[in-house]
Amino acid sequence: MPQIVGARYTLIGGEAVLDHALCIDSGRIITAGKFADLLSRYPDAELAGGDSFILSSAFTNAHDHGRALGTLTLGAADDFLEIWLARLGRLPQIPPYLAALYSGLELLRSGVTGVAHSHNPGSWAGMPAEIPEAIRGYRDAGLRVAMHPPIIDQNMLVYAERERFLASLPPELRAQFDAADRIDLSAEAYFDMLDDLYAAFHDSSEHRVHIQVSPAGGQWCSDALIQRACDWARRRDSRVQMHLLETRYQRHYARKTWGKGFLRHLEDIGALGEWLTLAHMVWVEEEDIDLLAERGVGVAHNLSSNLRLRSGLAPVARMVAAGIPIGIGLDGQSLDDDQDFLREMRLAWTLANRSGLAAADLSASDAWRMGTQIAADISFGAGARLGRLEVGAPADLVLLDWEGIRGKWAPPDFPPPELLPEFLLRRVKREHVRQVMVAGEWLLRDGAHVKVDIDEVEREIYARLDFAAGRASPDLAAYLREFYRGWDEEDR
Ligand SMILES: [Zn+2]
Repeated sequence: MPQIVGARYTLIGGEAVLDHALCIDSGRIITAGKFADLLSRYPDAELAGGDSFILSSAFTNAHDHGRALGTLTLGAADDFLEIWLARLGRLPQIPPYLAALYSGLELLRSGVTGVAHSHNPGSWAGMPAEIPEAIRGYRDAGLRVAMHPPIIDQNMLVYAERERFLASLPPELRAQFDAADRIDLSAEAYFDMLDDLYAAFHDSSEHRVHIQVSPAGGQWCSDALIQRACDWARRRDSRVQMHLLETRYQRHYARKTWGKGFLRHLEDIGALGEWLTLAHMVWVEEEDIDLLAERGVGVAHNLSSNLRLRSGLAPVARMVAAGIPIGIGLDGQSLDDDQDFLREMRLAWTLANRSGLAAADLSASDAWRMGTQIAADISFGAGARLGRLEVGAPADLVLLDWEGIRGKWAPPDFPPPELLPEFLLRRVKREHVRQVMVAGEWLLRDGAHVKVDIDEVEREIYARLDFAAGRASPDLAAYLREFYRGWDEEDR
């Protein structure tokens, strides 16, 4: 049966429209218009929403890892990326099904209905068994997932000069480092796995699951591996997602290795295209921004993560002005450690704007699009038509609690539609997400999942966490700090 969803304001392309409703059937938006007109056309339709809500497209988290709990909660203090990454091997593991289920439920509470999941393998060789479990977890939560299992084939724990680093370690740590620095998954086995996953799960009609490829980061992958990954994605009309230029040392690595910037190098090996999304991009070089825009490369902006790991601030205003599609990703590292996607949009909007009298670089409507349509496009491809309230598009919607957002400030006609996006984005939080629809089905009602008890999932995770078992890797922090300090000297 069709249903009509209306609200006091509807956000279309980030702009507020009054008296607008959607009619939904078979998982898609079948028509849109004034509420009274839709009701006369579909008198038997079920009704949802109303004057106390704001209606928007649901959000897409353009880059995350689905770890369920924050890395700090699990025992790894925030630090510079190169040091922090070495700590991740020491964390207790959560079964991939439970991790994805819980991550999905958390995101849904934030109004997120699609996620680009960059998998953190429990073990490289175990990934073929882990990925279907993670997909099952997201499916049970009701989220769409752009799944990209990672592959790397070099420089896992230090980016170059492995021998110099090894020589700096005391003998008892050398063997441990050697053991922790191995990748027991060959490129052959990886691409065989991807082919199997693609055949079993890739859904190019309803877009519940996309299987994508992820050479995990520029410095961790040989040219041959990156080229093979791009080729794999292009042949299947899928996508590539890579971490790139997250820290200053990654930029240094490119200059040291090729005598040019990372993006020039990727361009030279044919690895830039509209099928590519690059996560972070804090250290993108000014002269490469137009190149990225020309090639149609997407960027996943992970602002909180870049702040917490002290990576720096990406030049978002400059990239937006050049026309690069930038979507917002939480990277499992939101500022308040709570996966609140709405706060992340607020932060991205606020910090993107440069100081000065000139007009703002980014409006609240721009930021809203970065969390909805653009994030969806760079995660699932524009052909999926996610993240927009258009006739024919999949019906992924959120209803936000307008009364709660407005609070005590309540002149009857405030705000006018032109001020609504800014008023909303300055105030909205996860707790204001009251109802969430995925493909025509309400999965969150009154802030609670209709099928799964999130508290129960949380209890199951805590019951299985084994903090003692996760501590086998060596503590390399002091030696890594010293190693990269040498690179700082070279930069001077
Ligand atoms: Zn990441």
